[in-house]
Amino acid sequence: MDCKEAPVAPPSVPYRGRIAPTPTGFLHLGHAATFGAAHARARAAGGEIVLRLEDIDPRRCLPLYAEAAMEDLRWLGLHWDGEPLWQSRRRERYLAAWRQLRDGGWIYPCTRSRKEVAEAAPLTVGAFDQEEPLFPAAWRTPVEAARAWETPAGVNWRFRVPDGEIVAFDDGLLGALSPRAGTDFGDFLVWNRDDVPAYELAVVVDDAGDGITEVVRGADLLLSTSRQLLLYRALGLGGAIPAFRHTPLIRDASGRRLAKRDAALALRAMREAGATPETIWEQIDRNGPLPGQTP
Ligand code: GLU
Repeated sequence: MDCKEAPVAPPSVPYRGRIAPTPTGFLHLGHAATFGAAHARARAAGGEIVLRLEDIDPRRCLPLYAEAAMEDLRWLGLHWDGEPLWQSRRRERYLAAWRQLRDGGWIYPCTRSRKEVAEAAPLTVGAFDQEEPLFPAAWRTPVEAARAWETPAGVNWRFRVPDGEIVAFDDGLLGALSPRAGTDFGDFLVWNRDDVPAYELAVVVDDAGDGITEVVRGADLLLSTSRQLLLYRALGLGGAIPAFRHTPLIRDASGRRLAKRDAALALRAMREAGATPETIWEQIDRNGPLPGQTP
C-alpha cells in the first residue's frame, strides 16, 4: 500500500490537530514535549487543536488523571479548541467499526493471551523498535470464524495483516518509512477480551471522525501508523488519512528513553520542586529543538 498516493490533507482543508493523552497516570516530561510539538504545529498553521482524552479502558483510566492532565496542559500554556472529547463516550462508534471489520473479513477471534504471545515471540530491535511482540502467524484463526460472533465480548480480536506488504508512509520529520507487515509488525489487537476497544481501532475511528489533518505523536508509535493505515483501508476511510509527524523521544544523559514510571519526571512533581513552564520548555529544548517549531 503506497500512502504517498492517498489524499493527505489537501491545502484547502484547514489544519486540525489533536492532543490525545491516556489518563492512566500523571503527565510527564515526554508528554509535554509531544503535546508542545502538536500545539506548536497547529498554531503555526493558524489551525485548530482539539483535546481528546483516550480513556477507553475503564480498568486503567481514572477521572482524576484526566482532570490532572487538563490542569497540567493549562499550566504549560497548551490550550485547546472547543470542549474536550472523551473516548469513553464513543463506544457505539467503535462497535460499528468492529462490525464493519468483522463483516469485511479483516479480523478474527483469538484466544491467545498477551502473556502467551510475549513468551512465544521476544521483542526484536529491527529498523523500527518493536514495541510489541510479533503475533505468531501459526496461531491465526481463519477470518471466517468471525461471522459467528454478534458482539466482540469474551475474546481478543486481531487484525490479519497482509504478510510481506510494505505499508509505507511519509513522516513529516523522518521522511519516507517502509515497515513491512508480518515482519516489522504482526496481527494486532483491535478489541480486547474484556470488551474494551484496542488503541489502534479507537484512534483511527476518532482521528477520521474528528477530522484530524495531522497527527503529531511520539516516535514510539511509528509502527502503529502502519497498523492504522491498514485500518483506514479496511474501514474505507482512505480519504480521511491524516499526515503523520513522529517526534523524537526524550532521552536521559546516557541516551536511555525516559521511563513513564519515573515519578520524578511527572510534571506536577517537577512543578512542586520549583519548575515553571519556562524551565520545562528549556529542559525539552536542551534535548533538541521542539520538532513542531522547526521550519
Ligand atoms: N494516547 C496516546 C498516548 O498518550 C497517544 C496516541 C496517539 O497520539 O495516537 O501516548
